[in-house]
Amino acid sequence: MSGTTDDEMLLDVQALAKTYRLPRERLLQPPPRVEALRGVGFAMRSGASLGVVGESGSGKSTLARLVMALETPTAGSVRLLGRDLHTLPADELRTARRDFQMVFQDPYGSLDPRLRIARIVAEPLQGLGAADAHARVAGALDAVGLRAADAAKYPHEFSGGQRQRIAIARALITRPKLIVADEPVSALDVSVQAQVLNLLADLQETHGVTYLFISHDLAVVDHVCEAVVVMYAGRIVEQGPTARVLRAAAHPYTRALLAAMPEWDDAGAAPPPAAPSVRVADGTTGGCPYAARCPQAQARCVAEAPELRPLEPGHLAACHYA
Ligand code: ADP
Ligand code: MG
Repeated sequence: MSGTTDDEMLLDVQALAKTYRLPRERLLQPPPRVEALRGVGFAMRSGASLGVVGESGSGKSTLARLVMALETPTAGSVRLLGRDLHTLPADELRTARRDFQMVFQDPYGSLDPRLRIARIVAEPLQGLGAADAHARVAGALDAVGLRAADAAKYPHEFSGGQRQRIAIARALITRPKLIVADEPVSALDVSVQAQVLNLLADLQETHGVTYLFISHDLAVVDHVCEAVVVMYAGRIVEQGPTARVLRAAAHPYTRALLAAMPEWDDAGAAPPPAAPSVRVADGTTGGCPYAARCPQAQARCVAEAPELRPLEPGHLAACHYA
């Protein structure tokens, strides 16, 4: 691959879709399917930070797994530095993995309790032939505010917030171009959340880390991300600069999310709707996925799915009446 220009996107996601088949409920009937993701596209430059928000079940983790090439999409593409991750030969994908790392939500389940921190943090270096693994572990621990001596300890010796720092150190160890963080502070106490968010923001400044930052909490995204994508039922319903989306939310769903934030006392906004638990991809629902819950829904919303369209440069919404 030739060198990249400044204009080239670090991450370019196009028309990404993922449909899961569920176990067959009745003999002789086709197994039900869940459309976890549909038509999702966005692009990120190096050094950017993009938040992905939406309530539980909106497809955020599915998006993360597809971007990380942990699962294969039903349709669409994920390009990192111009390479389509889902069509790369296995050996090239293995090498490419150094460029993108993930931080998971659960700081307890994501660290192997039998391994010392040194092994855990160095794990992504395996097969990359890094001769200086020892020094890099010490450097990564330092970057996240831990001590080099912590490398000899085991996960149980650390608190939840410290474990998440260890997970971040592991993600940093290959000096990745992109870090995908899926709800990285959701499992932490509120007092610890701010510390870890500050660390992530600091790392962006000092190490130029690019984040795809997933959260169900708009306030958290506001802390770390300059731009945000709002997802509902597997689709992007709004995207734009975070400040813009928070101040001038265009989609009724985004406004409902804002209304649910205690610090966003927006009088008169509708209460947040419940997310649909299961979406069956039977092709019969042609309208807006949000129509059934939308306080502003009109006949057109049930008949015709709105396209994501620009309201002003960089700010888009998928609503007929935005
Ligand atoms: P989020 O992270 O926003 O909570 P997910 O991406 O986990 O959302 O899930 C989106 C939808 O896809 C949900 O309806 C979920 O039940 C479904 N789903 C996710 N993973 C699978 C899977 N492996 N098999 C079947 N359905 C799945
Ligand atoms: Mg999730």
